[in-house]
Amino acid sequence: MRITARSKKLAASSENNVSFYKKYASVVFNTLREPLFKKYLNWILRKEGIDEHEVKDVQIRIFPFIKENGNGLAGKCNSKGEIQLYPKKRQFFQERMKELGKQNISFFIRSRARAALIHELLHLKYLSNEKKVRELAEKYFKIFTKHQHRQNSDIRNISKMIFT
Ligand SMILES: [Zn+2]
Repeated sequence: MRITARSKKLAASSENNVSFYKKYASVVFNTLREPLFKKYLNWILRKEGIDEHEVKDVQIRIFPFIKENGNGLAGKCNSKGEIQLYPKKRQFFQERMKELGKQNISFFIRSRARAALIHELLHLKYLSNEKKVRELAEKYFKIFTKHQHRQNSDIRNISKMIFT
């Protein structure tokens, strides 16, 4: 027999979470479908000699994936070329709201999604060579970000949060 008890407060907060993560997913969806970014991804695939058809599916997951050690996961891929992307925990943003500001939170979400997809695409070629994948993902991410109209200090801060 399964007996569950939930306070009203908890129910309300989880509802907020749902709308937060839905919004998050739609930002990621729109970001990854931007023509300029898609063009850039194709350039990476060509440069790395990864066949476009190796990428079967990119799934944007609504809720975070929390590993056993408590850390979140940005993305994963399998040998069938299916890539899954996960959001950062809501708590992360709540803790940094003041420090980041609304504008930068959106920039962070968009940047993290781009970096995660680039990272997982590189895994298709470099498989479990995590060091190589990280190195290249950071390099490619920086090239793309350089061409965006953002303050350098913003880019530095966000990149640091994503890659360390
Ligand atoms: Zn990896």
